[in-house]
Order: sequence, then C-alpha cells, then structure tokens
Amino acid sequence: MYGWAGTILDVDLSCGKIRKEPFDQSLGKDYLGGRGINSRILFSEVRPGIDAASPDNLLIFGTGPLGGTVAPSANRMSVTAKSFAYPGIGMSNVGGSFGPELKWAGYDHVVIRGRAEEPVYIFIDDDTVTIRPAKHLWNRNTWETDRLIKNELGDPNIKVASIGPAGEKLVRFAVILFTMHRVAGMTGMGAVMGSKNLKAIAVRGTGSIRVADPKRMIALTREITNRIMQNPYYRYFSVHGSPASMLVADKAGILSIRNFQQASPWEGAVNFKKSSISQYYTRDKACHACPLHCSHFFEVKDGPYKGEKGEGVEGGLVYPFGPNLGNSSLESMFRILNLCNQYGMDTIELPFAIAAAMEWYQQGIITQKDTDGIELEWGNVDAIIAMIHKVGNREGFGDLLAEGGYRASLKIGGKAAEDYSHCKGMGMGSDDPRLMKAYVLSGSTSTIPGHHEEGYPPAISPEKMKTLIGTDREADPTSYEKAATTVYYQNLCTMTDAVEICKFISGWAEQEIHFQEAADLFSAATGIERDAEQMKLAAERINALERAFAVREGISREDDRFRGRIAREPIQGGPCKGEEIDPEKFESMLDRYYELRDWDVKTGIPSRAKLEMLGLDDVAKALSDMGKLPPQKNTPEYQEK
Ligand code: SF4
Repeated sequence: MYGWAGTILDVDLSCGKIRKEPFDQSLGKDYLGGRGINSRILFSEVRPGIDAASPDNLLIFGTGPLGGTVAPSANRMSVTAKSFAYPGIGMSNVGGSFGPELKWAGYDHVVIRGRAEEPVYIFIDDDTVTIRPAKHLWNRNTWETDRLIKNELGDPNIKVASIGPAGEKLVRFAVILFTMHRVAGMTGMGAVMGSKNLKAIAVRGTGSIRVADPKRMIALTREITNRIMQNPYYRYFSVHGSPASMLVADKAGILSIRNFQQASPWEGAVNFKKSSISQYYTRDKACHACPLHCSHFFEVKDGPYKGEKGEGVEGGLVYPFGPNLGNSSLESMFRILNLCNQYGMDTIELPFAIAAAMEWYQQGIITQKDTDGIELEWGNVDAIIAMIHKVGNREGFGDLLAEGGYRASLKIGGKAAEDYSHCKGMGMGSDDPRLMKAYVLSGSTSTIPGHHEEGYPPAISPEKMKTLIGTDREADPTSYEKAATTVYYQNLCTMTDAVEICKFISGWAEQEIHFQEAADLFSAATGIERDAEQMKLAAERINALERAFAVREGISREDDRFRGRIAREPIQGGPCKGEEIDPEKFESMLDRYYELRDWDVKTGIPSRAKLEMLGLDDVAKALSDMGKLPPQKNTPEYQEK
C-alpha cells in the first residue's frame, strides 16, 4: 500500500484490549483519509443520542494519505468524537509533528473506545502498544505531563498529546495539546479524552511512508512550494504570523469589540502593530514539511509577564482575548496563551464565555458576589487571568463558565440568554460575521457551527471567483448571493482536512492548493489517480455524512442560523455601520444553499437521492429508520410536508 501506513489501531480502555486492523483502501478512495474516515467510523459505530461522556463515545485520531510525506504541510491530523460542546460531530484539526510521527509508527487512525477504571496513558512505540498507569500524572498540566512522560520513557524526542486539568474536569471546551504547543481545539475533544480517563498518548515512530511515485511527488512538491513562496501572502504570514491581521480587521470594521457591543475603530489596536508583535519573536517555527512556517517562538523579556516563553500566538487568540474583552495589553497575550495551553482550554470558546460574563457584570446582572470577588471589568487583565484559573479548575464562578458561554447564559437566563451570540451553542470564530454574508451562511451550515475555518472564504476578486466557481456574481462580501461560494469553500476545507494538509496553504487562505493540486499530490502518494472533480465529490460525501450525523442528533434547518445579538442588531458604528443579517434575505440564501447541496429545502436534511448518489445508502437507511429522511421530491408526501 502506498500513501497510507496500512493499519488502524483500536484501543478499548474498558477491557485493555488492543487490536490492529488492516486499513481498508476502499475507505481511502471514498473518504480520502483523516477527517473523512474519522467521520465514517464515528457514524457507523456510535449510536444516535449517546452522551458525549459515555464510554461508548469514540475518540478517533486520523492522519491522511499525505501525512508524513514531503508534500507541502503534510502534517495535519483530525481528532473526532461526539462533541462535548454542542450536539453534533466534534472535530478538530491540528498541525505540528504528532500526526507524521503516528504514521511513521505505522498507523493511519487510532480509535479509542471505553473508559479506563483509573487514569492511564497509551504508549505507541512502533509496533508495540501499551496502556500504562497515569495516576501520578493526573492534576498535572500539559507541559508537566509532556516532560514527565518523556523522562519516564527515557526519550526526549517522543511526541506527546495530553490533556490538562480542564480535560480531566470535563470543561466543555477542553482541548488536547500536542507537543506542548499545537492544539486540537473548540469542540471539547479534551473533555472526551478526560471522560475516558486517558491522560495522554505518547508516540515514537521510526518507520517511513512509501509513496507510489516518488519522482512525481518531489516534482509536485517543488512546483507547489515555489508557487506558495511567490504568493503575495507568503511573506506576510511567514514573517508576522496570523496575529498581525488584527489591524487589517480593525480597519475593515470586523472585530468583535466588548462582546459585539461596539464597532471599530478599537482604541487598543495601536498596540497590535506588526512590529510590536514581532519584537517578541525569537525564532521562526514550521510544522513538519511546511514551507510557510507561520508559527514563531516567543519570549517576553521584561514587564509584568517577563519570562513567558512559548510558541504559536495566533489571531485565534489575540482577537477573542484582545478587543473582544477590551484588553489592549499585547504582552498579556503571551501569559494568557501559555495558561490556556497548560490547562488545556480553547482560546476562542473560553474568551467568549468570559466576554459574556463581563457584559453581565457591566449590566449589573451579576456582581462581585457572583464572581468570587473578581472585578470582571472590560480590559482588566488580572481578572481575565484569575478567571482562566477558575475555569480550568472548575472552581466557584469558573464552574459556570466551564459549561461554555451558551449554557452559562441559559442558566443566568433573561437578557443574558437573549443576547448571547452563537450558532447551535457554539461561539463565533474571531470576526464579526454581520458584514460578510458568506461567513453567515458558512458558519450557519458547516459541520462545526460558527467556525471561521470551515468554509468562509477570503475576499476574492471577481476574476478569480469566475475561474473557481464559474460566476463573479458572488464577489461582493455584503451580497446575499453566497451559496455557490460557500459550497465551494466548505468542500475545499473538508478536502484539505481529509488529505490532511494545512488550510493556510490552500485556496481558503488565498494560497496555492485547490482541488487539482490536492488531486495530483494524492495520486502521486497513493497511486490512485484522482482529478479535481473526484476530490470535490469526496468532500461532498464527507459533508453529507457529517450532516447526517447532526440530523441523527436532532439538528435541522431551524438550527442553521446565528442567534443572539449578532442576529438581531446591526453593527453600531465604524466602516460597517448598519450591516446586519436580514432575516428574509438570509432564508433565501439558505434555500439556495440547500438546493445546491441537494439537501431538502424544508428541513435541511440531505435527500435520499443525494445520499445514494454519494454511495451513502446505509446512511439514507439509518435516517429513514429514524423517520428523519425527507420525502422524495415530486411525491404526494413531499407536497403534503
Ligand atoms: S501554515 Fe503554519 S499552521 Fe499551517 S502547517 Fe504551516 S506552520 Fe503549521
């Protein structure tokens, strides 16, 4: 077998049984790898309606057919389970070097099932897999866990994935930390790991991956890498990283300021200039095989956060912890990042929960009596840091926020619940969606609700749009003609997650890998010839399958929308003043989206015809058995419904 390593590892923590199954190449043909195969396994093996904390939930790690090869950014890995954060598939995509190491150890996917009686960790040492006691690691943060496991195993080069106290205490947005700095975030994968009493996975892989056509692979890698390095975004990302986009977002008027209450310009933006951020960078850092190297090591040399060292401060941290909390201290971001990583908490869901609490405090809905004496005022960095400790330990008021902003707002009730901005219970990514209607549509319909990396495309020129999707009518960011663009970019993001390359070098980030480039790399790696249309079709299949999983859990058209303040109020000022989500225009845009997907317009559920066309007959049967499959078009039942 080429491209894939050839084995799926299955570990049952309830009984300690470890199995190795041969990788089924037909799965690779239909679902490509990573995210696609993870979702297929989850749909087939997890019964509808289970609690995310049930031992019957699966936690699946999936590398892709390019992982561990020389292909550009062939380092990503997807982590999948029934989500702790909302009722659907929890899925998170992570870079770094853990995924390649797992493949070099010989595994394409690792499926974890059951629950250990006491804390354990798994050591994957090439062919030898053992479950080891981890009681001594429980309550340790992720960095300590990384160090202790490496010491115990006597090898500093072993790659460790671990949870911190937040995962152990089932904080709903707990993450898994890989090699101390790379994060599988947002949908509560760390809480699933904690519910299984699984503290960590350590891996040592000394093998390699055989590709079908090494010469073609090297030639393609050279050619695509050259294009990536000549792309206008290359220098920006490789030198400054994603936080430097803060000023651009402020100028465009799309920052969430004080929980979407205010609009640009943000008074603190001046502190986040490119040069201000770069002064803390000590070295560039790339994930395995990535020419873009957008990450950086940093060190704070003086001031109140002196001594903070780490890696990977990103836009996904500085937007939500900066303007969203009224926090203009750039230096504080480095302390905040390290704390979130050590506790193992998501840097988007956590600050949106804190932002909601700051607004309740501002409005007098809660007082210092509720917050354990903490003055939750906008921009109070000490209060933000105190709250991180409280949430990570589920202590006092932190226990409420550990449920996530949405659930916390429901418990507070009244105006707090009415105003909380979310989609299906998940907070926004980092941009205010009200300007960009493609974000409104993609956030409303994508597998991970509200996520900014699930299909919301960059601002593209009309000419480029015409080449990509056959029309330039959807180029205006404020127009509600966004269905074709959204389908295109959602499929592109799904495909990159399935072959497991980074979105930052894909067309999603105005970079060079679209469907054809991915098809060429896939073909060279696996020896299975694929073209752009076949890659798109595989992405369609994965999206329909993930949608069917959500449908099983009760999600339908009614849920496909933003709620709370951002759905009700226009932007109050700045260059986007007055931009809002017009309910009628949104519904028409959603109709068009479902039509393009061939999902039932009335319910948002994939049609039988579509599922069968994608080879998902068993999925159609499962939905039909639950009475969830919509009647077929042009039948009396359809007219009645
Ligand atoms: S672009 Fe950045 S995050 Fe993506 S693989 Fe490269 S270094 Fe990692």
